[in-house]
Amino acid sequence: MKETGYKASREGDDELSLIVYDLFGEKRDKVQRAIDLVRSFEPPDKYYLAYSGGKDSIVVEAILRMAGVGYEIHYNMTTVDPPELVRFVIRQFEAVIYDLPDGSFKYFAVNGGSRLLFPATAQSVTGKRCIHFTIPKLSMRQLIVHKQFPPTRLARYCCEALKESHGEGRVVVTGVRWDESAGRKRNQGTVTIFNGKAAQVAEQQGARYNNNRARGIIMNYDDAATRRVVEMCYRTHKTMLNPIIDWTDEDVWEFIHAYNIPYCKLYDTGCTRLGCVGCPMGGYAAQRRELKRWPQYRKLYVSAFDDMLEARRRDGKLNHSSLWQSGEGVMQWWTGYERKANPEQVAMPLLTTAVGVTEGSETA
Ligand code: SF4
Repeated sequence: MKETGYKASREGDDELSLIVYDLFGEKRDKVQRAIDLVRSFEPPDKYYLAYSGGKDSIVVEAILRMAGVGYEIHYNMTTVDPPELVRFVIRQFEAVIYDLPDGSFKYFAVNGGSRLLFPATAQSVTGKRCIHFTIPKLSMRQLIVHKQFPPTRLARYCCEALKESHGEGRVVVTGVRWDESAGRKRNQGTVTIFNGKAAQVAEQQGARYNNNRARGIIMNYDDAATRRVVEMCYRTHKTMLNPIIDWTDEDVWEFIHAYNIPYCKLYDTGCTRLGCVGCPMGGYAAQRRELKRWPQYRKLYVSAFDDMLEARRRDGKLNHSSLWQSGEGVMQWWTGYERKANPEQVAMPLLTTAVGVTEGSETA
């Protein structure tokens, strides 16, 4: 396995603020706790690491490696990923396995971490450090045309189609952290199991849990009862293990620097979060900044919006805003040009039934 140059030993770590001593002199070591967690929940068929190339997922990958557990690394291509991020991800690996929508896959060996890719056989990548790139059924452009409206904060259909529908029946390890949003604090724990029936199993096992809003359960304990629940549920439900859920931004950066973990240099240019270019979740200012930085993506979105308007016309749908006359107009609407006149636009609900509804209404 190719090493990426990070320090694997924990010698000298007592200096880190990730390790604290409480009033009773008891050591609290977030790194060791994360390592212990992934060791205690290790499934027989390897972890499925949801890897984005962002700072949280590179930390989790290092934790899995330090723990010595089995894991596969999966990167979901959203088709609107920052190119620098994709190049960074590819450079970390010796082979890329493209998982295609029909369930088949293709291997590509990466030439010494450079951008030159060449086809490879299963044998030639065996034993190499690999990453799976999941190719979605529909690209962002196709999704926009298919749904006939742009993704919005409340109607983020793209996340479901491009990011969240993978890893069924596996224990998925993520870099989710409470620090990132209050919603995550309510809906995610050290272990999160998505399925109402998981609560029954937890009760049978005498495990402690809370409910989340998606009919799942969240558990913040790594005791024997929790482990049994995970063992019993992981084949039939989506089980997520979030080993750095309680880490702060400072913890993440301290770990990255202390262990010399390579990270995407976009962080050194002022980006604090890396993800889809133009994501509506980050708000108008971030959206505009990103589309200015990656103008090619802006052009592609405008062209997708043109096709989207054509599809709406074909189906006899009225448009949501007077700006929806061209792809460029939809782009202006999408990035907040009209927000004072129409503060609801980013929170627009699903626009499915359009015929006969007056322009400007919530269901145009
Ligand atoms: S654009 Fe935002 S909402 Fe859509 S897939 Fe990407 S992160 Fe999710």
